Amino acid sequence: MKRSRMLAVLVGGIFCVAVMSLYRMLDLMQGSESKRYGEPPGGQVDEDLAHLQQKIDGLERLLSDNNRLVAMLRDTLLQSKASAWKRANNSIDSALGRRGEALPGCRLAKEMKDGVDGVQLLDVYDLLPFDNPDGGPWKQGFEITYKGDEWSEQPLELFLIPHSHNDPGWIKTFDAYYHDQTRHILDNMVVKLSEDNRRKLIWAEISYFSKWWNDIDDQKRAAVKRLVEAGQLELVTGGWVMPDEANSHYFAMLDQLMEGHQWLQKHLGVKPRSGWAIDPFGHSPSMAYLLKGAGLHNMLIQRVHYSIKKHFAQQQTLEFLWRQSWDSSSRSDITCHMMPFYSYDVPHTCGPNPAVCCQFDFQRLPGRRTFCPWKIPPKPITDQNVHERALLLLDQYRQKSRLFRSSVLLVPLGDDFRYVESSEWDVQFNNYQKLFDYFNQHPELHIKARFGTLSDYFQALHRRLSTTRTTLPKLRGDFFSYADRDDHYWTGYFTSRPFYKRLDRKLEATLRYRRSVWLHDTHHDVVFIFMVTVYESSFCVRATEILFSLTLAEMRRSHSDGRLAENFPAREYFQWLTTGRRNLALFQHHDAVAGTEREHVVVDYGTRLFQSILNLHQVLQSSAHWLLLLDKSQYHHDQSKPFLQMDEVISAQDALPQKTTLSLSYEPRSLIIFNPTEQLRTSVISVVVDSPDAQVIDAETGRQMSTQISAVWAEPSRPSTDTFQLSFVAELPPLSLVVYHVTKASSGSTPRVRYTVHRRGNPLDIHTEHFQVSSLQGSEADAPLSLSNKHVQIWSSPETGLLEKLRLQSGLVRKIQVQFLWYGTRTGSRDKSGAYLFLPADEGAQLYISSEPPLVRISRGPIFSDITSHFPHFTHTVRLFHLDGHAGKSLEISNLVDIRSQVNRELVMKIVSDVASGNRFYSDLNGFQMQQRRTLAKLPLQANFYPMTSAVFLQDSTSRLSLLSAQSQGVASLKPGELELVLDRRLQQDDNRGLGQGVTDNKLTASLYHLLLEDRGGGAKEVGGASVDHLSLLAHLASLSLCHPPMTMVATSNSQLLKLRPFQPLHSSLPCDIHLLNLRTLEDTQEADTPSQETALFLHRKGFDCSTAPEPAPQCTWSEHEEVNLDDLFSPLQFQSVRRSGLTLLRADDEPESAQQRHPPRIAQLRPMEISAFRVQMD
Ligand SMILES: [Zn+2]
Repeated sequence: MKRSRMLAVLVGGIFCVAVMSLYRMLDLMQGSESKRYGEPPGGQVDEDLAHLQQKIDGLERLLSDNNRLVAMLRDTLLQSKASAWKRANNSIDSALGRRGEALPGCRLAKEMKDGVDGVQLLDVYDLLPFDNPDGGPWKQGFEITYKGDEWSEQPLELFLIPHSHNDPGWIKTFDAYYHDQTRHILDNMVVKLSEDNRRKLIWAEISYFSKWWNDIDDQKRAAVKRLVEAGQLELVTGGWVMPDEANSHYFAMLDQLMEGHQWLQKHLGVKPRSGWAIDPFGHSPSMAYLLKGAGLHNMLIQRVHYSIKKHFAQQQTLEFLWRQSWDSSSRSDITCHMMPFYSYDVPHTCGPNPAVCCQFDFQRLPGRRTFCPWKIPPKPITDQNVHERALLLLDQYRQKSRLFRSSVLLVPLGDDFRYVESSEWDVQFNNYQKLFDYFNQHPELHIKARFGTLSDYFQALHRRLSTTRTTLPKLRGDFFSYADRDDHYWTGYFTSRPFYKRLDRKLEATLRYRRSVWLHDTHHDVVFIFMVTVYESSFCVRATEILFSLTLAEMRRSHSDGRLAENFPAREYFQWLTTGRRNLALFQHHDAVAGTEREHVVVDYGTRLFQSILNLHQVLQSSAHWLLLLDKSQYHHDQSKPFLQMDEVISAQDALPQKTTLSLSYEPRSLIIFNPTEQLRTSVISVVVDSPDAQVIDAETGRQMSTQISAVWAEPSRPSTDTFQLSFVAELPPLSLVVYHVTKASSGSTPRVRYTVHRRGNPLDIHTEHFQVSSLQGSEADAPLSLSNKHVQIWSSPETGLLEKLRLQSGLVRKIQVQFLWYGTRTGSRDKSGAYLFLPADEGAQLYISSEPPLVRISRGPIFSDITSHFPHFTHTVRLFHLDGHAGKSLEISNLVDIRSQVNRELVMKIVSDVASGNRFYSDLNGFQMQQRRTLAKLPLQANFYPMTSAVFLQDSTSRLSLLSAQSQGVASLKPGELELVLDRRLQQDDNRGLGQGVTDNKLTASLYHLLLEDRGGGAKEVGGASVDHLSLLAHLASLSLCHPPMTMVATSNSQLLKLRPFQPLHSSLPCDIHLLNLRTLEDTQEADTPSQETALFLHRKGFDCSTAPEPAPQCTWSEHEEVNLDDLFSPLQFQSVRRSGLTLLRADDEPESAQQRHPPRIAQLRPMEISAFRVQMD
C-alpha cells in the first residue's frame, strides 16, 4: 500500500472510531437516563434537580471529551504527515517482524540498548578465575603494601561511622527486639550523643525509629531533632526496613522507602541523602534506581561475592557510579561504595587483618559481652599504650586506604544490635576519642580522624575527588549471586519458605479463583484454596490504594463542595491503609521475605499481614459499594453487615480459608469484579456454586456470558456431588467494577466439561451423575495427549500428562518438556544446605520417579481445557484458555507441592526445550528489569542459580520462550534450552549463618506460571541475546494479568433491591507499555492520619523487546514519543493540577511551583524503563 493511501485509510479509520465513540457516549447517556426515568418516581423536586445537575455535568464532560477527540484527530493527522507514526494496534503488519523491520514505536528502547559504556559486571564474571587462593591475613584478598609517603600531600581523612544494625525480626520478632534491645539503643543514643558533640551515629530502620518515637516524650523528641540538625545523628536510606533485594518486588521496595521517607518528612523534616545496605544477601540495581529517584546521591553496599570484591579492590573500583544497564545517559548514576572485606563487623572493617581490627572493638574488652575469636583481646587505650595502639590501627587504615582512589576513608564501627548498654557507648567512644586525639596531635602521621556520619564521608569524598580531578568508573549490572566464602553461595534463600514468600496460608484465602487450586485435605476434610504470593499482598495494597483514591475523588466530584460522603469512614480506612503499607513494608526486610528467620517470627509476620489484608478487603468492599450505587444516598456503612464480601472467607487466622459456595436460585445474585489493571482485559472468572446449571449475565447490558461448569474434585478421582465450579469469560474495562448476575439455569443448559481419566497399568472407573468421564482405550492410551486453541497446540505424555511439545499457529514447533527433579544435600561432615545456602549433593539433581504411575485427568471445556497429573509429592496442571485475544496465547502452569515427608530434599520443576540459547538466559530483578545471566562451568552448580522475582526467558534467533511467575524463587539454566525452578526446600540443619534452625516448617505450597512461546523476528542477531534486553509486549501483558488478577466480590443476598451501576473510571486502556504502579492518597499535612486531597500518581513506562510484532496484536497502543498527555491517558478522570516529584514524594523533590500544570493539556515526559511520580489533585 502506498503511503498516501495508507494515511487516508488510517485517518478515515480514526475518524470512524471517534464518531463511533461519540455515538456510543450519547447512547450510554440516554440509556442511563431512560433507565432512571423507568424507575418508580421519587416525587421529590430535589432529586429532579440533582438529576438535572448530573445531566448538565454529563453533557459538559461529553463536550470536553468531544473537544479532546477533535484535538486528538488533528494531532494524529499532523503526526501522520510528518512521519509514518501509526496507531500501532490498527496498523501492525505481523509480517513486519519477520521481514526484519523493527517494531514501530520501539525506537526509544532500542537506542538505550545501544548506549553501553563503563564496566559490565557480566564481563567481569567472564574474566575472573574464581580460584579462591589464600590471601594471608586478608584471607580472600591479597597483601597490601604502601611506602608511607602516600599521604604526605593529602592526609588520610578518616571517618569512623558508628552504627547499630537492627533487624526488624530474625531470631526474635520485631516487637521482642524492640523491647529487649532497640529502644535501649535509641534511649542511650539521646544521652550519649548529647554528652559530646563530636560523637555521631547513623540509623537506617525507620520501622524501629518510628515505634520508639511514639514512646518518647516531647523533651526527648526535641533532643533528637537537635542531634539531627547538628549532624550528629543521620537517618540513612530512610526506608521502613533494609529490604531483601532478590525476592522483593519493586512495588513493595518503593512502598517501604516511601513510608520511611514520608515519616521522616513529617516528624523530623529531613530528607535522607545516603543509602546504607550492609546486610541484604546480594544487591540489585533496582534498589540503586529507586534510591536515585528518591533523591539520594550516594549509597553503600556490603554483601558481594568475595572474588568480585577482591577484583574491585585490585582495580581500585570499590567506589563507582552505578548506572542502570538500560540507561544511555548518566541520569541513573549514583555513587556507590562497596565495602571490601568479609563482613560489616569491626574485625572486618578497619583494615584487612581481622585479628588486629578485633582489638579495636572495645565491646570485646575482657569481661564484656563478647570476645575476639583471633585470641588477641582489645586493650583499653591509656597514655602508656596510645602510641603503640595508634600506630597499629593506622597501619590497618593505611592498608585499607590503598584499595580506594581517594585518601578519604570510611570505617564503620558497629555490629548487630550494638550500643544497647550505656557502658558500650563509653568504651567505644572514649577509647576511640583518645586514639583520634593522638592522631590529631601528631601531624607527622598525616591522618585526620573523627567520628562521622555516612554523608560526612561522602561529602568529603566528593570534595577530594573534585580537587584531585579523580573520576569514578561507571558500572552496570547486579551483584547476584552472593558467596561469602569458598563455594558457599547464598542461592537457597531465593526459594526458602516459598509458602511464606506467598505469605501465610491464612492470607491465601484472600485470593482469587482463576488461580486457585482445589484439593482435599484429609486432616480437615474441607476443600480449600491457597495462593497468595508476597506480590499478592503487594497487589492487594496496590488495588486498595487505587480504588480508595478513585472513590475519594468521585465523592469530592459528586459533592460540589468537595466533601466526602458522610458515613463513609474515610479516616479509619486511611489508617488501615497506612497499617497495611507498613506491615507489607516490614515483610520486605532481608530476613523476612527471604525466608531466613526463626519459625515463630515467620508466624508473627504472617499474622500482621493477615490482619491487614482483612482490613484492606473491607476498604475495597466499602469503596466498591459506594462507587456502584446508582443512588449514593442509599450508601450506608455497617461493618457487621457488609454489602459486599470477598468470595472467600476466613473465620480465624489459624483456620483454613473456605471459598463461599454460592447458592443459586432463579433470583439473580450479584457478582462484582474489580479489574485492578490499567488494561481492558478478557478474564476467566470462576466461582463455586451449588448447581451444575447456571447462567451469568452482564447486569448492565443484559448480555449472556459464555460459561462452563467443571467438577470440584474432592479427591483426584472423586468429584464433589454438591458443589461445582462455574467459570465465565468477563470483559473488564481498565480499573473498572463490573456487575454480573448469576442465576440457576434450566437443566443441562450450561456447557459441562468432559473428562478423560487415565492411569497406566491401573485403569480407573469413575462414575458421576453430572459429568461425562471416559478413559483412554486401546491404542489411544499410547498416543500423545493433545489440547489446542486458536493460537497454540500442545502435546503431553500419555503416561505422565507432562508437556512435551508446543506448536504455534505460525507453524513454529518447539520441544518443551516438563520434568521434575530432586536435589539432595552434601553428605559427610561438610556444610549442608540450609535457609541461606544451597549446597547440593555431588551427584547433582536426580530425576523424580514416582513409585506408581500418576493419575492423569484431561478436561475439555469451551472456556478452558487442561491436563492435571497427580504425583505423590505434587499436582501439576497445564491449562489452555480458549480465548481469542492474546490471553489465549500463553499456557497456564500450576503446581501444588507437598514435600513434608522428605528429609534434606529440594524439588525442582525443569523445562527442557530445543531453544538454542547457549549459556545465556534472562531473569528479572524485582519485576523492574531483565538481567542477562551467563551460566559458567568454572563456577559450582549452586553459583549458577539466580533470583527470579516474576520472569525469565530463553531465546535463539527464531524464537523466545518466556516463563512468567506469580512468586519469587531460584532459577537456573544449567544447559542450553533448559530452565530449572526450585519449588520448595526442606532442610533439616542450620547452615551456620546465625539462624540456628533448619527449614522444616514446609506447607502445602502452590506456584503459578504463564508460559509463552513467540516467534522472534529478524531483529535478533545474537544467539543468546544482547546484554540488555526486555520482555516482549505480550509477556508484559501476561505478567500483568498474572500478578494482578481480577478480584471477585459477592453481594450479600439481601442486597438485591439496590440499583448498581458499573464503575468505569477510564474511557480506554493505558498504552501497553505504561503501567499504573500506584495511585496513593497522601496524608493531610494539617490533620494527622487523614486523607488529603492530594494523590501520588506513579507511572512506570516499561521497556519492551523490539524485534517482533506481538501476535495476536493487543488492544492497547504504544508510541515512540516520550511526551504523554495525561488528560488523554486518564480521560475522563480530571486532574486539577499535576506536579512532578521524586519517587518518595518528598516536598523537597517537588518541581518548582511554576512548573505545576493546572490546565490541559498536561504533558508528562515518561522515559522508557523509568518510573515517574506526580503529585496530583483529582477532580
Ligand atoms: Zn540483618
